[in-house]
Amino acid sequence: MQTPRLILNILLLPVAIFVQSSRAQAPDTGTAHKAVATALLNSNNAGAAHLACPATISLDPASSQSTANPPGGGPARAAGAGRAARGPGMTPPRENWYAEGGKVFDNLYMLTTKANSAWAVKTSAGIILIDTLFGYAAQDEIVDGLKKVGLDPADIKYIVISHAHGDHDGAVKFLQDTYHPHVILAPKDWELAARQANPYNHDMDASDGQKLTLGDTTVTLYFTPGHTGGTLSFLVPVKDNGVPHVAMEWGGTALSGNTTKEMLQSYISSASRMKDIADGSGADVIIGNHTEYNDALALLAKANARKPGEPNPWVVGKPEVGKYLTVVQECAKSWLAIGEGRP
Ligand SMILES: [Zn+2]
Repeated sequence: MQTPRLILNILLLPVAIFVQSSRAQAPDTGTAHKAVATALLNSNNAGAAHLACPATISLDPASSQSTANPPGGGPARAAGAGRAARGPGMTPPRENWYAEGGKVFDNLYMLTTKANSAWAVKTSAGIILIDTLFGYAAQDEIVDGLKKVGLDPADIKYIVISHAHGDHDGAVKFLQDTYHPHVILAPKDWELAARQANPYNHDMDASDGQKLTLGDTTVTLYFTPGHTGGTLSFLVPVKDNGVPHVAMEWGGTALSGNTTKEMLQSYISSASRMKDIADGSGADVIIGNHTEYNDALALLAKANARKPGEPNPWVVGKPEVGKYLTVVQECAKSWLAIGEGRP
């Protein structure tokens, strides 16, 4: 009579091991994933969590509110505002959005409104521009912003767009018509861009892992769908007084209750993959396309006040880059669990 019990025990063994290992992990619920994200929050990622996690979480809700896009940070509203901003008379008062940009690394310049950032990568053969802000900021922040730091907007050879929402691609049409750079988007977001009221011309399709080389500098583009179907994230080689670092931009961040299950699943695997890529590249700098994500305006002010020999505040170290991508991933897992009925 021993044999059936032995067989039963052997059959139940994997179940017991499974139960044990499940108990060791946090439960797969919205609350638990948000708690994992919350435990990692600091000024390098709290703003990203504010826009990616369900319900507002922030180290300082008042300060993150002040740099959000005026009507809110959600992708749909940001895109709508971008389209509206192309029409005459739709420019909001300058004092609501104007901010002073500046140099962040030897070869990287932050062109920024209060809410959104674009990045000029200076190379030996011209400028790679990452994102373009809302259309209304094109002259003051992109054109004049480049001139203020001694760069010539006519030297923009490539514009790479993280995703086709108006707060990032709003000035593409103007820049394309004026300076004739190449414009690069992922194919899925070219489809989004084509649906805009006054679309810019379809130019180059990005590919996953594409190495975009201009002169002495190579920026790498990765497909990281989730915020949009064709969101691109980036690795940018930078130098601080000649010392090399790698900057990571997570190209699409905000999630909402309307984000589909498929997009949430894409976002989770994109963030996991980007974390491995960033780690493998030694990325130790976080840049973003909303100032709120990593308190970028405060970092810029600190960098501007830096005395010779002091460290660059933008260099946050590899663990912080990993933490950033873990936070947004846990936020997406939280949304997914809630959507699947596990609050
Ligand atoms: Zn967006």
